[in-house]
Amino acid sequence: MPNRVLAVLPAPSVADRREAGEAAFRMADPDAPQIEVLDLGITRGDGVFETISVAGRRAQAVEPHLARLARSAAMLEMPEPDLAAWRAATFAVAAALPEVPEAFVKLVYTRGVEGGTRTTGYAFGEVSPDHTVSRTEGVSVVVLDRGYRHDVRTTAPWLLQGAKTLSYAVNRAAVREAHRRGADDVLFISSDGYLLEGPTANLLLRRGSRLLTPPTDLPILAGTTQADAFAYAEQQGLEAAYEPLTRDDLDAADALWLVSSVRHAAPIRAVDGVARQIDAAFSAGLNEHLIARRD
Ligand code: PLP
Repeated sequence: MPNRVLAVLPAPSVADRREAGEAAFRMADPDAPQIEVLDLGITRGDGVFETISVAGRRAQAVEPHLARLARSAAMLEMPEPDLAAWRAATFAVAAALPEVPEAFVKLVYTRGVEGGTRTTGYAFGEVSPDHTVSRTEGVSVVVLDRGYRHDVRTTAPWLLQGAKTLSYAVNRAAVREAHRRGADDVLFISSDGYLLEGPTANLLLRRGSRLLTPPTDLPILAGTTQADAFAYAEQQGLEAAYEPLTRDDLDAADALWLVSSVRHAAPIRAVDGVARQIDAAFSAGLNEHLIARRD
């Protein structure tokens, strides 16, 4: 079984026509060139994506990921994705991966080649790196200004906050800044002082018996992992809630996590160089729960 698998969708959107008898996807060589140089995903980052965890060849939280792909595409005014085709490609790529505990499938959907008439789409699968250290020992973060107010989604919707676009150069730059400051990762804060998310993860904050995350009308992604973490927290007797959170809430929290697909729950062990207590037992239980999810 190859460690990397690719499925290309000939008709990623409902508006793209397939040839008579053409399948929803074709398996392709992930090491061979597949994308045209003038694809708008490449030239302008004009597209959307999803990264889906795979456990034992089963893709996790597929429907929430597909729903978010469609929401992101709608925010970019891209053609509506053919979710049946994306679902079939996701399952096929996950099933073609080796029987390893953890892998992922990345869905990439772009506006297509400049001047062309159809969108571009593919599903790429790969075995995941080992995230044990982040999950058990935690990650250190620095708090960085996101440069937007907490209400930017309504005051400037063209900034596409809340969509999972391919334009992640800013997110990568923030992580490099964290590394320059000796930290592993970033927690963004709005220019008017509200905690947001990491560059690739949502924030969870425990205060007593309450597990909190910022509301999704802030400039953050609605996380699939956060949603499943809330379900787990409620099973454990915690109250899970969406609440605006500030730097004071961060400082007063009993425990903090960054949660995302693939890495799952990474407890935060330091904020701006100041050590924080991690909740190892809850982290272990949550990660077990997240890894055990199917479909
Ligand atoms: N926020 C951002 C900016 C992300 O890029 C991601 C995931 O990649 C998340 C949050 C977490 O989302 P999910 O749990 O659905 O992977």
